Amino acid sequence: MGLWEEHIRKVVPYVPGEQPQGDRVIKLNTNENPYPPAPGVIKALREMNPELLRRYPDPSACQLKETLAGYCHLGTDNIFVGVGSDDVLGMAFLTFFNSGKPILFPDVTYSFYPVWADLFGIPYETVKVTGAFEILPEDYRRECGGIVFPNPNAPTGICLPLSQVEDIVRQNQDVVVIVDEAYIDFGGESARNLIHRYENLLVVQTFSKSRSMAGMRIGYAMGSRKLIKAMEDVKYSYNSYTMNYASIVLGAAAVRDDQYFKETVGKIIETRERAKGKFAGLGFSGTDSRTNFLFVSHERVPAAEIFRALRERQIYVRYFPVPRLDQYLRVTVGTDDEMEEMFGFLETYLDS
Ligand code: PMP
Repeated sequence: MGLWEEHIRKVVPYVPGEQPQGDRVIKLNTNENPYPPAPGVIKALREMNPELLRRYPDPSACQLKETLAGYCHLGTDNIFVGVGSDDVLGMAFLTFFNSGKPILFPDVTYSFYPVWADLFGIPYETVKVTGAFEILPEDYRRECGGIVFPNPNAPTGICLPLSQVEDIVRQNQDVVVIVDEAYIDFGGESARNLIHRYENLLVVQTFSKSRSMAGMRIGYAMGSRKLIKAMEDVKYSYNSYTMNYASIVLGAAAVRDDQYFKETVGKIIETRERAKGKFAGLGFSGTDSRTNFLFVSHERVPAAEIFRALRERQIYVRYFPVPRLDQYLRVTVGTDDEMEEMFGFLETYLDS
């Protein structure tokens, strides 16, 4: 091995869900929205001026930030935007978790957290969720270098009430607490209004789930002016132009089309609640998900087998072959038709 090889940074990367191609695939494995982007987005896309692509985009993504700021009743200096919430979260890890003390996150959670921690050399400790996969705020009352958790949590779908999120933030005012709200629009109460009371709170959201724009890669963080300024400084030390022209224009159009947003989120919630009943009727149990996915386990048939059988039928769901999760499937809420097809198959399969 050459010396140069020895000195390469070695990392174990995050593994994103499969992106199978083809029209016949029913894709319920990466928590995408089954509905198309808002009509306002499609109109803005048609009206976009391709000549502008020769220019650099606005590095501050002002149009997107202003639209979000108006929507969230915040100042533009309370908002940071990035290339999906993965980019925003990665930037937040790099900016805020720099004390050398271990940061804390749940042991069952978004599997990107340990990857960023390892990449940036941030020590971490995981905090056990209960047997029912619950996060207990009192477990986060201890010295640490920062805290990050999704609310609702992934892949469990369980949502903490806002009072318990606030408990965690209040008990840890010496460090930055990041609440990853990728799924909050599907039934939780956002912590974003708490940023006025807690300078150390960063709330991260995404356009990938509730706004049907995973392919556009838009995420954002809301926090005190000091937190946002610190993130901007790190961003401008790495890549000034994270947001491309199309993301800025189409992201702003998505936020403006609020009626469509509310309608589609409402439909997904209705489909999810019906699906809970159907899963139960087929012998599955699961958590009380407040997200656009369900986390379910069958009373008799191992999850790995159901996963394989579904996959053969071109129905993709997510399976995590790791301790504690390996009896569960994470099933994204699709359209009613997609869910019907999946349940139709499961009925026959589980009968045989
Ligand atoms: N947080 C959580 C909890 C997620 O499940 C995801 C989706 N993989 C993300 C953040 C990142 O989503 P995106 O980068 O598409 O905004």
